[in-house]
Amino acid sequence: MTTVPVSIGARRAPDDGSSTAPHDGPLVDRHGRVHTDVRLSVTDRCNFRCAHCLPDDDVAFTPRADVLSFPELTRVATVLRDLGITTVRVTGGEPLIRAGVVDFVRSLAGLGFADLSLTTNASRLAALAPGLADAGLDRVNVSCDSLRPERFARIRRRGELSEVLAGMDAAEAAGLGPVKVNVVLLAGQNDDEVLDFARFARDTGRPVRFIEFMPLDAAGHWDRAQVVPGREVHRRIHATWPLEPVGDPADPAPATRYRFADGQGEIGLISSVTEPFCGTCNRLRITADGAVRNCLFSDDERSIRAVLRSGGSDAEVALAVRRAVWGKRAGHGIDDPTLLQPRATTATATATGDFHHPRRSMSAIGG
Ligand code: SAM
Ligand code: SF4
Repeated sequence: MTTVPVSIGARRAPDDGSSTAPHDGPLVDRHGRVHTDVRLSVTDRCNFRCAHCLPDDDVAFTPRADVLSFPELTRVATVLRDLGITTVRVTGGEPLIRAGVVDFVRSLAGLGFADLSLTTNASRLAALAPGLADAGLDRVNVSCDSLRPERFARIRRRGELSEVLAGMDAAEAAGLGPVKVNVVLLAGQNDDEVLDFARFARDTGRPVRFIEFMPLDAAGHWDRAQVVPGREVHRRIHATWPLEPVGDPADPAPATRYRFADGQGEIGLISSVTEPFCGTCNRLRITADGAVRNCLFSDDERSIRAVLRSGGSDAEVALAVRRAVWGKRAGHGIDDPTLLQPRATTATATATGDFHHPRRSMSAIGG
């Protein structure tokens, strides 16, 4: 059995210009993008082993001592709120397997964000939904990559489709709707379910978001041929149930939304690989081990754990966040075939400094 590291550690380019970051005003990067949205990861651990995310083998998770405590995370969230963050999504790994997560959500809710949501594999959602709603969570996103039980078991490798569907029902019953459903499409594995998921969106009223497979699987098996482009998904659904765009094209949300022209529900396309939306990106991520990550696809991270644990002030934490955001690149460039190196060439490429395949998996970054 191989042990696959999913948290290789933070690094930064030596001269990223972040020291010129402003000390006040909106949380902005050098390209003028104001940041108002954060993904807060509470753990890199997971009870599932989805094919596009974690290997089935033994996985080397972050040592518990290196994971931010809930009081530390609450402090970071408070600093972020004061920097102008208005929307928070709690994620992981699987956020609902961390003990105490409901109380943590309660403390986040007390900070008064405009929108507080959580992304989950739903394995524990049926049990926790009432408590999460009572704690002040606004809504949940549930990941579900197949509506066929055997295939669900093959892709997600743990858990059962029935408990995920029951979790969605429980979330709605508790008032955590509308439940958005995340589907990562993998060519040849589940893309024949595009119309089934579109029908599911129509029948349940749950917006289904089709996500392109990104080069963020810990095993490093991603390849371009497995990506199902969002525009292909649109073509297939539109041919059966005509779609029309919803909302403002300048909206920084990653999903491009469409409603069914007959008014029965909506879908979203998250085309991070084939149609990057970097120009309007307003997101940053806090990893479970306390790094600020300004882009899913950039390994430029700034650790705030050391600041927190060495008695740093809130102003110092805030400045570290500002610097991390200031250093954000204009675009991720992953659709440039010359940029992405196979993970197998990591050692050489890192040594030569031209390595662009992200070093952390989606579960370790906080998707
Ligand atoms: N464990 C929770 C879940 O599965 O919903 C939250 C964390 S998970 C990393 C967040 C989202 O990232 C899920 O919808 C998951 O399917 C997606 N994801 C994981 N690996 C991915 C990849 N390589 N490409 C695209 N999406 C991915
Ligand atoms: Fe776990 Fe979510 Fe990754 Fe699946 S996608 S392995 S549920 S973190």
